[in-house]
Amino acid sequence: MSNTDFVLAVEGLTVSFDGFKAVNDLSFYVDENEIRVIIGPNGAGKTTVLDLICGRTKATEGSIRFRNREITRMREHEIVRTGIGRKFQNPSIYGDLTVFENLEISYPKGRSVWGALTFKRDAEVIKRVQEVAEMIFLADLLDKQAELLSHGQKQWLEIGMLLIQDPELLMLDEPVAGMSVVEREKTAELLRRISQGRSVIVIEHDMQFVARIADKVTVLHQGKILSEGSIDKVKNDPKVIEVYLGH
Ligand code: ADP
Ligand code: MG
Repeated sequence: MSNTDFVLAVEGLTVSFDGFKAVNDLSFYVDENEIRVIIGPNGAGKTTVLDLICGRTKATEGSIRFRNREITRMREHEIVRTGIGRKFQNPSIYGDLTVFENLEISYPKGRSVWGALTFKRDAEVIKRVQEVAEMIFLADLLDKQAELLSHGQKQWLEIGMLLIQDPELLMLDEPVAGMSVVEREKTAELLRRISQGRSVIVIEHDMQFVARIADKVTVLHQGKILSEGSIDKVKNDPKVIEVYLGH
């Protein structure tokens, strides 16, 4: 396969669970500074695609290249180290630690909990934590215990925990589920800001939110691409209306 200018090149990707192809010969390409949104009905294979990219699930066939590097058979932690961060649907933050501490332990130098607790809070880490906290709207809540945050704030904190590692590709699975209207607007603003200098893949159902953030939309159905392109193109695609938007 020849090199590409894409940050992420997925080609012929297939995963079979006991003969059932949850992702079926899928190819798509993501650019630098792009926000790609993946939409589609429940069971379409959206989460599985992220599982495959981050190495949690292994492909049966096909290739995933990140900056032209084959990552398809790498282990999860190796994939993280190449610069791919992934946020799951339920926030995995440390509830009894403060916002500051959650961000601090996610800073690359002190990644493990034990490393972080004995870790000297040098000026560089504090500066970076403050920068990220500002970005995720939590700068005034650094000393707050994470479990006392609102649902939306917890989601932002987890995004911050990924951002502090400065990934080149950030993947988010339904980040605004359960968020208020105001929180959704702020999250859209946050994603637009963090896509400067990196690529972002978002799985989302809220079409208003999708329209605000997406550079390009990929519609999945039964593990395959049903439609792809601008929000206006896919929104008006009769196939998409039939299997997804019409419901
Ligand atoms: P989506 O995120 O689009 O709702 P998923 O990727 O979660 O869909 O699931 C796609 C299909 O693959 C579903 O039918 C689901 O039951 C199946 N699936 C996902 N992960 C596994 C697994 N580890 N083992 C067996 N089946 C799975
Ligand atoms: Mg899913």
